[in-house]
Amino acid sequence: MHQHRARKRFGQNFLHDAGVIHRILRAIHAREDDRLLEIGPGQGALTEGLLASGAQLDVIELDLDLIPILQARFGDNPRFRLNQGDALKFDFARLQAAPGSLRVVGNLPYNISTPLIFHLLDNAALIRDMHFMLQKEVVERLAAEPGSGDWGRLSIMVQYHCRVEYLFNVGPGAFNPAPKVDSAIVRLVPHAQLPHPARDHRLLERVVREAFNQRRKTLRNTLKGLLDSEAIAAAGVDGSLRPEQLDLAAFVRLADQLALQPQSPA
Ligand code: SAM
Repeated sequence: MHQHRARKRFGQNFLHDAGVIHRILRAIHAREDDRLLEIGPGQGALTEGLLASGAQLDVIELDLDLIPILQARFGDNPRFRLNQGDALKFDFARLQAAPGSLRVVGNLPYNISTPLIFHLLDNAALIRDMHFMLQKEVVERLAAEPGSGDWGRLSIMVQYHCRVEYLFNVGPGAFNPAPKVDSAIVRLVPHAQLPHPARDHRLLERVVREAFNQRRKTLRNTLKGLLDSEAIAAAGVDGSLRPEQLDLAAFVRLADQLALQPQSPA
């Protein structure tokens, strides 16, 4: 295999710690009849173990230089399919996976992790679960509870769609080159039934974005342009609270209140 030099602009930090790789594979626990999708396989650190399960595996890799390396390593395996391109623009319908079947895996490039999670959530109906390596701070935000400083737009929109499990931390030494930050593994499992369905999830996004634009202000203040005090009270929410004090159910009630207003284009 020819030597590949890690590229910063593709967020390349390759896993080389066999213990960590095994721990991740154990957490995923792939089986022969699984439909797997790996995002950013790199040089195949996780890919090899995923294929060893016998599962069908699609990978999406952006870096053209890695394509021949992946092809040489795994191209003979009929269960392996290589997709070259940008995962942020990938049309997941192309995979023709049954609803609720796709198991998504990735040691993600940190610069695209949030938009990629949102892109995947748009396709939540296809997905059974997701296992990601992310910057530790991002996993803390994903798994945050109301009332904490980490609770915000990312926590709320992901928890609207998924159950979040913070699995374990991974230090910089597990990668080559070593990143400057700590990492962690998270499991996201889309809810079979949304626990707090909003009338219109775009309005939920809007209320949450607006509320957290100025997280130190009261809701009465930050939501002024969307909902007046009466509407906030009608949602059963105390307008003198700050956004980080509200749970998901309360944000959904605010969004549903907004949906009742005549002039509420998303
Ligand atoms: N999975 C490998 C590992 O654990 O060693 C590589 C992880 S590395 C952090 C991220 C990988 O994602 C790189 O291979 C990089 O080229 C790829 N990548 C970066 N941006 C991407 C994108 N937009 N779509 C698909 N792959 C991307």
